[in-house]
Amino acid sequence: MDDFYDKLLIELECPVCSNYMAPPIRQCETGHSICEACRKKLPKCPLCQKQFTDSKNISLEALACKMHYPCINRLSGCTAKLSLEERDSHELNCSFKGFKCGMDKCPWIGKLEDVVEHWSSKKTKSKIYHGSNICHTKIKQESYYVNLVEINKQLFWFKCKLEKGKVFWAVQFLGPREEANDFYYEIEVFKPGCAMPKILFSDYCQTADIENGELFKDSICISASVDCVNRFVSDDQLLIYYLRVNEVETNEGLEETTGEKKEARKARKQYKKKLDDKHKHKHRDRSKGAATEDAEKQKISYRRLKNN
Ligand SMILES: [Zn+2]
Ligand SMILES: [Zn+2]
Ligand SMILES: [Zn+2]
Ligand SMILES: [Zn+2]
Repeated sequence: MDDFYDKLLIELECPVCSNYMAPPIRQCETGHSICEACRKKLPKCPLCQKQFTDSKNISLEALACKMHYPCINRLSGCTAKLSLEERDSHELNCSFKGFKCGMDKCPWIGKLEDVVEHWSSKKTKSKIYHGSNICHTKIKQESYYVNLVEINKQLFWFKCKLEKGKVFWAVQFLGPREEANDFYYEIEVFKPGCAMPKILFSDYCQTADIENGELFKDSICISASVDCVNRFVSDDQLLIYYLRVNEVETNEGLEETTGEKKEARKARKQYKKKLDDKHKHKHRDRSKGAATEDAEKQKISYRRLKNN
């Protein structure tokens, strides 16, 4: 049955880009179907060189709406089968999605479990941060740096940018989008050796899919004019501050925990449990070999993340 279903799915692949076609599915004069994105790019049908028409392949569109599609991250291990409506939101939040490492201009994309290892393999200036860190930012014309933060197996990017007389700070959560607001960060600007004065900024973490152009807007990150923090800058032009990343304390049953977030947290727990179960299974039955190898690899990198 599965085999038959897969063969049916192949009929829905665009002959040009191999992505699954979704309505509108247009045709050429001969009757070849093509996805909308490819049709817009091509002057005529690549299969028969005839013109495209405006008519749609209505029966194929109807079939496309009834099918369940494999997740775009299936090669990374996601086994979800999704209807057209579910597909976009799932793929945005899929736990098998590739993550960027966050380093400037680094082309690496990989699994969440491999981000720490990737960072450790690079000769970055600073070590991976933990929940609370003292940071030094040189107050000069322009600068930008990013660091990885890890607390309780959760990963974040901490980004600091200096531009046009303003300093910007942002923390982004690497994980499901709905969970970013479960964490907040604090920037506490202080003068070494003095209890007072100090300035405390605080905001929720952002999601990892926000690009820097959007991230460093005043309404999204924390920003302060250099004039405002100038009294804290040392003689050698260093601004010193604590960066702290914390989980928002929520009591079960409180109104502020929305249903969506509860679901996300539940899904995360189930995912971790699944990894644990797979691991146990592997130890019970070593003869399975290749089938459990992937799960084992995943478990190893997960454990590495845990122990780091
Ligand atoms: Zn296409
Ligand atoms: Zn054609
Ligand atoms: Zn998926
Ligand atoms: Zn990288």
